Amino acid sequence: MDAAMGAKLIIIGTGPAGYTAAIYAARADLEPLVFAGNQLGGQLTTTTEVENFPGFPEGILGPDLMFAMGQQAEKFGAKTIYEEVLSVTREEETGLFVVSSHAAAYKAAAVIVATGATARYLGLPGEKELIGHGLTACATCDGSFYRDVPVCVVGGGDSACEEAHFLTRFASKVYLLHRRDTLRASKAMQQRVLSHEKIAPVWNAVIAEYKRDADGELCGVVLRDTQTGKLSDLAVKCVFMAIGHSPNSGIVRDLVDIDSSGFIITQNNATATKTPGLFAAGDVADPVYRQAISAAGMGCRAALEAERYFLTL
Ligand code: NAP
Repeated sequence: MDAAMGAKLIIIGTGPAGYTAAIYAARADLEPLVFAGNQLGGQLTTTTEVENFPGFPEGILGPDLMFAMGQQAEKFGAKTIYEEVLSVTREEETGLFVVSSHAAAYKAAAVIVATGATARYLGLPGEKELIGHGLTACATCDGSFYRDVPVCVVGGGDSACEEAHFLTRFASKVYLLHRRDTLRASKAMQQRVLSHEKIAPVWNAVIAEYKRDADGELCGVVLRDTQTGKLSDLAVKCVFMAIGHSPNSGIVRDLVDIDSSGFIITQNNATATKTPGLFAAGDVADPVYRQAISAAGMGCRAALEAERYFLTL
């Protein structure tokens, strides 16, 4: 691409980290361009009630929270660009970053990467073809399609429990498949799920195979007992995957250090990466906490660090 559009600061991602960084950066007159990516508002837009974000004693819907954050950032002058970033490079002579989408190339003196993480699947044969045909990682998006039929959720963390509980609104039965016999989820979440009459935990179980009907839709799974190796059938119309997320760090792979799970390694417990002017915040750089509020906190720190970086230029 020839002519690249210029900006002081580019923020990649519109989750809690990206939009918080945008609020702080816009108020500091850094006029940030904020790239929405393929999921405007990030992962919270695929959840329902958020009960642990401070300031909302009655809880708030994830999409509403993200809409409000976006509005707050734009009120101070942040500009949302509805494009997905494909690559980030740095020009040797100028030190400027070149952020390229399918539509254009944008140059900026500093970049905050807040690209979050993407749902993981098991990697079983035929899995990709089943996504959208009885296999999904988003109960909020797809749960209402499976009314009065049995479904299952895979995983033992907070996400799996939250999804299972949400699905009781629609499904006739929700099997919670976990590879161990103890949930990883918080005690409050465990209690809510294990006491629900529609939720049946299936301990020490993993999916060995997906079964499809003549139309190619999922109609059940073959389970393998992780203790005995015994196989059994479970008839379900949909599998909701909730086994964690992989950080979306690929677009800056050449500019940052990455740990064995793909998380961006930041310097000295802050948000700076090994490339001057490139900062990382939120789930893409946080293998430990991965909460909306901790991502927002990192977004704030990234913007403040970017602001200080501009003083050194
Ligand atoms: P997570 O805590 O990493 O849990 C992933 C679950 O999937 C674990 O139970 C794990 O089993 C299981 N798993 C992983 N790989 C698997 C595989 N290949 N086959 C079968 N099972 C597999 O992920 P998460 O639930 O998405 O939560 C991520 C973070 O967000 C956590 O810090 C969580 O507390 C937080 N979160 C909070 C809330 C809330 O507070 N409302 C809601 C959602 C998420 P093992 O237990 O055996 O490892």
